[in-house]
Amino acid sequence: MSVTVKVPAKVNLQLGVGPLRDDGYHDLVNVFHAVSLFDEVTAAHGPLAVTVAGASIEGVPAGPDNLAARAARRLADHLGREADVRLHIDKAIPVAGGMAGGSADAAAALLACARLWEADVPFETLLDLAADVGSDVPFALFGGTALGLGRGERLTALPCEGEFHWVFALADGGLSTPAVFAECDRLRAAFEQEAGWPHESPELLAALTAGDAKALGAALGNDLQPAALSLRPSLGRTLAAGREFGALGGLVSGSGPTCAFLAADAGHAAELAAALDEADVARALVTATGPVPGAHVLS
Ligand code: ATP
Repeated sequence: MSVTVKVPAKVNLQLGVGPLRDDGYHDLVNVFHAVSLFDEVTAAHGPLAVTVAGASIEGVPAGPDNLAARAARRLADHLGREADVRLHIDKAIPVAGGMAGGSADAAAALLACARLWEADVPFETLLDLAADVGSDVPFALFGGTALGLGRGERLTALPCEGEFHWVFALADGGLSTPAVFAECDRLRAAFEQEAGWPHESPELLAALTAGDAKALGAALGNDLQPAALSLRPSLGRTLAAGREFGALGGLVSGSGPTCAFLAADAGHAAELAAALDEADVARALVTATGPVPGAHVLS
C-alpha cells in the first residue's frame, strides 16, 4: 500500500519584513499564493528512507535531513509511534528557489504519513505540527491565497477572485534563506534604515478581492528583494527584462533567486515566457496559475 500527495509551490505576493527579534527571527507580513507547480510525495511502509527524483535536484538531501523525513518524524513523535515510512519525492518545484519546495515536501509528507498510518489527525493539529517543522510548511497544507503573520505560520485565508497567470524565471543555483535575511539586516544597518512594523498592503488585498491583475501587478512587494539583488546582482537584469516585455508586475519570489512575473492571461504569459527565454535572462521559464489548493491526497 502507498499514498501519494500532490503539493504546490508558493509565491509571496507581499513579503514585509519587520525588525530582527531577540529570538533571531523577524516578524513577517506574508501574503502567500499557491501556484500550479507541484511536487509529489509518495509514502510506503518500510524503514525511514527518502529518495528524490526530478530534473534539477542538486542539493536536496536524500536521507534524515530531508524536510519530508523531519515531518514524518514529527508526526510519528506526536502519535507515539516509529517513523517507519519510505518517502519518494518527485520534484518539479525549483530547489532553494524561494518557492518553498522543501516546505511543500514536508507538508505532503505529513499528510501522506497520516493517511498511510491510518491516523485520524485533525487539520488544525497537522497545521501545528507543520509549524514545528518550518514557518512555510503550514501554508503548503493550507493552499489558496493566505495572510501569514508571526514567522509566517499564523494563517488566514484571503478572498481571491478568479485566476492569475504567472511566469517564473528560474535561476542557476539557489540562495540560502538565512543568508538573504542576514543580508537584509546588514543592508538596513549599513543604510541606517529603521525597519518599521510591517502591514499588509490594502491595495494588494483589494486587487485580490477584485481579481484585478493590473492592480495586483502594481501592488506586489518584497522587502527581501534588495538583499536578494545584492547577493545575486544578475537578477536585476531579469526583473528589468520582465518590465520591458510588458509584465503587469514582477518581483523576486520569497528569498529568491526565482523571479515571478504577473501576466494578463494565459496567452500573455506564454508570450512573456518566450520573450524572457529569448533574452537569455534565466536558466528556464515556467508558466503557472494561482491560486491552487494546498497539499491533497491523489491516491
Ligand atoms: P523558502 O522559499 O521556504 O525560503 P526555498 O524554496 O528557497 O525555501 P527549498 O527548496 O525549500 O528552498 O530548500 C532549501 C534547502 O533545504 C535546500 O537547499 C536543501 O538543502 C534543503 N532541503 C531539505 N529537504 C528538502 C526538500 N525536500 N526539497 C528541497 N530542499 C530540501
